[in-house]
Amino acid sequence: MALTRLTLPAANAGQHTVINVHHFGPENGQKVYIQAGLHADEHPGLLVAQHLIEQLSALETNHQLHAHFVVVPYANPIGLKQRSFGKVVGRCDWHTGQNFNRGMALDRDAFSGEFAAQFSADTAANDQRMRTSLREMVNQRLVGFEVESLHKLLLSQSIDAHYVIDLHCDVVALPHVFYGSHQPDEGRLLARCLNFPVCLEEDVTGTVAFDATHTQPWVLTQQHLTDTAFEQPCFAATVELRGNADVSDELAKQDCDGLLAFFAAKDLISGLPPAQPSTVAQTAIAVEQVKLINATAPGIVTYHCQLNDHVRRGDKIADIVLLDEPMPTRVAIIAPCDGLVFSLTNEFYVSPGQTLAMLATDEVQNKAGSQLAF
Ligand SMILES: [Zn+2]
Repeated sequence: MALTRLTLPAANAGQHTVINVHHFGPENGQKVYIQAGLHADEHPGLLVAQHLIEQLSALETNHQLHAHFVVVPYANPIGLKQRSFGKVVGRCDWHTGQNFNRGMALDRDAFSGEFAAQFSADTAANDQRMRTSLREMVNQRLVGFEVESLHKLLLSQSIDAHYVIDLHCDVVALPHVFYGSHQPDEGRLLARCLNFPVCLEEDVTGTVAFDATHTQPWVLTQQHLTDTAFEQPCFAATVELRGNADVSDELAKQDCDGLLAFFAAKDLISGLPPAQPSTVAQTAIAVEQVKLINATAPGIVTYHCQLNDHVRRGDKIADIVLLDEPMPTRVAIIAPCDGLVFSLTNEFYVSPGQTLAMLATDEVQNKAGSQLAF
């Protein structure tokens, strides 16, 4: 085990911001990168990372690791400092407004036909060449704002990994996983190992978050080639650890064990007890099949559905009680389609456009590549 502490360029006189990077296992094979808290107001992952550090340390001592595991237990110390009247407001950078989990993708134009032309029939050599190119692109990135420095520093640790896991959470939600729609087998295996019921499969060629920043270059390059160019392109996933109040050692241990079971299934860890079979039915859909249920009026919400409900078209999802009518008046929010309620925002005073719930549905609801949250 090794711990390195990396310092961001100072954004303010007298302030130095440090990120810890924990390393486990042999460094001459595959690389696994796991981080928590890029959205600094999402805290379940911070505890899962601590469980991972403990477990990976023991596994390393027992020579059970067959890959290099890198754990960044708090990926966003800038966001952690953004405390307002007691609450951490860590989704977007206060200085620039930038969502910490957007805006770090490598230049899409770099993965052109000319770039693709350097790859040959030797897929293993192609993998190495791609990872070298990715490291160089990150190293050469020019940065200004502190959030850009943060992204560069994180990518410098992660961009060449074979597996990238970014730990997040929702507000009130069933546990779910996002990953590229080009890697359904690995994504669904990850969800089964975690015992998570919902898989959201994403077109990674458009706007991307941290996870797909790692898979997009491989996919864009492959699009210029007829034969399969790569042996083991990066697999990356955003793991949504339920809601932000779901912080407990019991859940963190369960999620840590699920992640380790996934890596054991990939032969990167040996000697673990057999994973428990998944006990939940798996719903795997494209991200475009998520229906956002939005508020249509300002007021107080009373919810008529719960997580894991299967609502039918026409069911009442919520009432919005208007506050400025002569007598109490309610606006019903009706499900426009069938779907599984997998996320609730549990906001009780809302404005028009604000999301109340998300449904996993059988039909395309949004344009490919559209974002579910700002
Ligand atoms: Zn998040």
